[in-house]
Amino acid sequence: MVSSSVLGFPRIGANREVKKAVEAYWAGKISADDLTKAAAEVKKASWTSVKSKGVDSIPSGEFSLYDHVLDHSAAFNVIPKRYLGLGLSPLDVYFAMGRGRQSEGVDVPASEMKKWFDSNYHFVVPEFSDETEFKLNFNKAVEEFKEAQAAGVTTRPVVLGPISFLVLGKAAKDAKPGFQPISLLPKLIPVYETLLADLKAAGAEWVQVDEPILVLDSAANLESQFTTAYTALSKVAPNILLTTYFSRLDSNLNYIAKLPVAGLHIDLDRAPGQLDEVLAAIKPTNIVLSLGLNALGQDRVIVATSSSLLHTPVTLASENKLTAEQKDWFSFALEKADEVATIAAVLSGSQDAAVAAALEANKVSIAKRRDFESTSDDTVRKRVASITPDQLERQSPFTVRKDVQAKHLNLPKFPTTTIGSFPQTKEIRQARAKLGKGEITEAQYEDFIKKEIETVVRFQEKIGLDLLVHGEPERNDMVQYFGEQLHGFVFTQNAWVQSYGSRYVRPPIIVSDVSRPHPMTVKWSSYAQSLTSKPMKGMLTGPVTILNWSFPRADVSRELQSKQLALALRDEVIDLEKAGISAIQVDEPAIREGLPLRRSDWDAYLKWAVDSFKLATAGVTDQLQTHSHFCYSDFDDIFPSIQRLDADVISIEASKADMKLLTTFKHYGYSNQIGPGVYDIHSPRVPGGQEIKDRLKSMLDILPDSLLFVNPDCGLKTRGWKETEASLINLVEGAKWARENY
Ligand code: GLN
Ligand code: ZN
Repeated sequence: MVSSSVLGFPRIGANREVKKAVEAYWAGKISADDLTKAAAEVKKASWTSVKSKGVDSIPSGEFSLYDHVLDHSAAFNVIPKRYLGLGLSPLDVYFAMGRGRQSEGVDVPASEMKKWFDSNYHFVVPEFSDETEFKLNFNKAVEEFKEAQAAGVTTRPVVLGPISFLVLGKAAKDAKPGFQPISLLPKLIPVYETLLADLKAAGAEWVQVDEPILVLDSAANLESQFTTAYTALSKVAPNILLTTYFSRLDSNLNYIAKLPVAGLHIDLDRAPGQLDEVLAAIKPTNIVLSLGLNALGQDRVIVATSSSLLHTPVTLASENKLTAEQKDWFSFALEKADEVATIAAVLSGSQDAAVAAALEANKVSIAKRRDFESTSDDTVRKRVASITPDQLERQSPFTVRKDVQAKHLNLPKFPTTTIGSFPQTKEIRQARAKLGKGEITEAQYEDFIKKEIETVVRFQEKIGLDLLVHGEPERNDMVQYFGEQLHGFVFTQNAWVQSYGSRYVRPPIIVSDVSRPHPMTVKWSSYAQSLTSKPMKGMLTGPVTILNWSFPRADVSRELQSKQLALALRDEVIDLEKAGISAIQVDEPAIREGLPLRRSDWDAYLKWAVDSFKLATAGVTDQLQTHSHFCYSDFDDIFPSIQRLDADVISIEASKADMKLLTTFKHYGYSNQIGPGVYDIHSPRVPGGQEIKDRLKSMLDILPDSLLFVNPDCGLKTRGWKETEASLINLVEGAKWARENY
């Protein structure tokens, strides 16, 4: 028989129960016991609903109150000293590591968070040092296996593998110079042995051990570590399903196929091309293959989801606003569970009438979707097909534009500006909710937004900022706002996906060719400009970021979707200039994170991603100053692409005290203007005046003074007004000081 499996299930609850419970616990409204109970209900609902779909291997142990990597750190005692001895319960230590804690005399910042591979999920980065003493504080895998069993479901537990755990971590600040987390492997293996042996003793037949780093180039150097670890673990563990996802194994396959594991999972959705290689490599072994087809003999094949369903909303069942036609195009986690079970049944030769009916229904729905896809928007397709190289280039090079813009904008040396959003207050959210419910009219809402814009403009004038913004009060979200105004998107009511901790996002879904039926921001930006004689910066989200933060179409390339978005934005940029706006910022925080996992795929991606940005921004005169903003600025290895964007000004996150990033800019001779964030907006802390001056001073030690803008490191929407005001006053002071001293 071919069996079916799900590699992980969303852990937020069908109605965001986990967010609600966790936040209530943080607010002191419910007890730790209540939180455990709420979590237990969500887990039970997930296990039983996946089981009810007929899936054979049901995951457990991947549930999390905050993050599964953080769960591992807590379980293996990888807890930085700063969180200990504060009188906190283990649960509160756990949350303090995830989100920091500021209460009753305790003041510890959160641990660093990083993107989980190329997904939109963030994990809490483990910190290792020579002093790390691994021990099993608790065995979540066993506990949840038993919990599921008590609920009548036998599961296949999921564990993050030892090598990915170490490699995804970083050296703690107090680690010896040159310390590498992977050097701890010999100390870690015995603890994993205990964990897995306990799991076997508890009755688990299989265990899914995730080693996603096996899809990275860097894993090529880890053969001996993998061999040592899995030789030891396979002796004591249940059958190990070594699990990889998000990309292909490539040459790592050479040693993976030799590991003494019972099964291997590969992602054929993201890397369908690897199948033949993998088949050839494992054919002579006994390894069971988990994927989506039948080439090894039935007993050696498991039909599985490509990766954890963590990155998928829970169920389509709660969507009431999508049309029946649209609903038929998608499947969320529960529907996917149903599908893998059906496919496995079909491959096993099932004669069941329900299976046959499901297969038939699926054929019909695929055909309908193909029909819909064939109704493409010819105008948009033709426009993309006829993009010319000159559309990607500004009229003159930056050296020429710089002087033209200096005259036109009349900005002082060290111009001060912000990244776009101002505090999204409760009042703003309430007004939007009221408009949604029909409690206020469109006109009333517009009046409200105009007043907000005016407040933001007057505030900026008052404290003496140079290049103003309108504050983005009209935007629910920097991607959704644009998606709602473009053709080609649909929106869900309840399709939440965890981004990190209790922060969930509800990405728009691209379903057809994208076009712009009408201007999207011109009304607000020109209203804001009409209020002031200072220049107003228009504010857009870039094509690559809109694409990366939406669910893309599967029938056409990401490149095509990105170019369609770019053309829509190009029209908006041109319209903004016509409306009298003289600076426009096109945010591309997701360009870096969209980078493929395999280096050999980078060039192709960077080509279309950078081209898309250029296409969106190059349709203007030399007078118009283009800005772009990046939240994560890990640019070392893609620097030429940042330069190729040719934005007149880029603002970047640089609030980390070391100036390594700016050294990179200098090293490559970056020639356009740059605004490295002078303070961190992710914390309510107000940066002192001297602190900002010191920051500017160290920036000016590296960068030419004629290129420097002065700004915070990201938008202010999550901040309160009080700290925003105090911080920006210090920022303006800092710029004045720089003008006097440089
Ligand atoms: N302009 C956006 C803002 O200020 C940029 C946000 C972001 O980069 N994440 O909110
Ligand atoms: Zn940002």
